[in-house]
Amino acid sequence: FLQRRIHGTTLEINLNALTHNFNFYKKQLKPQTKVMVMVKAFAYGGGAAEIANHLQSMGADYLAVAFTDEGVALREEGITLPIMVLNPVKESLLLCQQYDLEPVVFSPSFLRFTAALTQKEKIELSIHLDFDTGMHRLGFDESELADLGEILLANPQLELKSIYTHLAGADEEVHKEYSIQQLETFARIKEKLKLMLSIAPLAHALNSAGILAFPSFQFDMVRLGIGLYGVEVTGKNEGALKPISTLKTTISQIKEIPPGGTIGYSRKGVLPDGGRIATLAIGYADGYDRRFSNGGGFVLIHGQKAPIIGNVCMDMCMVNLEGIAAQEGDEAIVFGPEVSLSDLAKGIGTIPYELLTNISTRVKRVYY
Ligand code: PLP
Repeated sequence: FLQRRIHGTTLEINLNALTHNFNFYKKQLKPQTKVMVMVKAFAYGGGAAEIANHLQSMGADYLAVAFTDEGVALREEGITLPIMVLNPVKESLLLCQQYDLEPVVFSPSFLRFTAALTQKEKIELSIHLDFDTGMHRLGFDESELADLGEILLANPQLELKSIYTHLAGADEEVHKEYSIQQLETFARIKEKLKLMLSIAPLAHALNSAGILAFPSFQFDMVRLGIGLYGVEVTGKNEGALKPISTLKTTISQIKEIPPGGTIGYSRKGVLPDGGRIATLAIGYADGYDRRFSNGGGFVLIHGQKAPIIGNVCMDMCMVNLEGIAAQEGDEAIVFGPEVSLSDLAKGIGTIPYELLTNISTRVKRVYY
């Protein structure tokens, strides 16, 4: 691709694979179940505006971002789907209203603040409520329902669009019982709220893993994240999803190292018998994790594994070319359909989510 002539590293995004994954999840859902797609954190690194645009044309029902500015950026790119903001700061509520973003309100004090602000400004605001059924991160407790109901009834300018909860261990079989308890608690909350308010906002609980594990708890909508991007975190549907992203870099230089030569900072890489190394145009500032240093990771060059040698630098890293015929300017694949992101993540003690969302914005995204 032309982009690689400007910057040595690109993240190629396969929009057909995205469509494939979206349709895979759609097939798991009842026809009436809506899909909210998580495009927070730059759409898991894939590029929020382009991915959101594609989702809009594919018929996604809702988008979700973590912070208000992520939603503002999408609106400025012309995205018209409803957008939920998971963790807005109070100071950004007016901005939410101006940009037609729908904040999540997650505590009684936040709800009171929101009610007072919208009264004072004489504005209406669409909101969502997060219920904590066991994640213990954000959200109302079931015991706060009466308080919450009273505030909502007194503040008709707040339009309740949806209620939701989040599972703490949907992707792990050992936590199945706990997940079911969470889902049953949520179902009870939903019924109580309906009695209290005489309205039935959309209800949702399942993330990617939950969609596959708990099909009877779809409620009205699901929240699809990592699976859309082609990463199957439960390991149960290997092959059903297509990885959407390929991270590619370029060989900047090839060097012959004399016997005993050391490579890079702190002289961490050593070639006792000498050898050939390649310097790649990717480093930790591009999101290439420093834990891949010195054998922690590898890249594919002409289909062969070249292990990282020495410490990963800010903008570069070096690989051992032993047994690999390569030339300067050749491409090296960091991950993609041929290199499992999940395996790479496991190798350095992290999760695919972190590797994807760490890819820095200076890495060019190319869509095809
Ligand atoms: N819902 C909430 C509240 C989340 O925070 C996330 C992601 O972190 C998701 C849904 C999507 O989860 P996943 O990417 O595992 O599908």
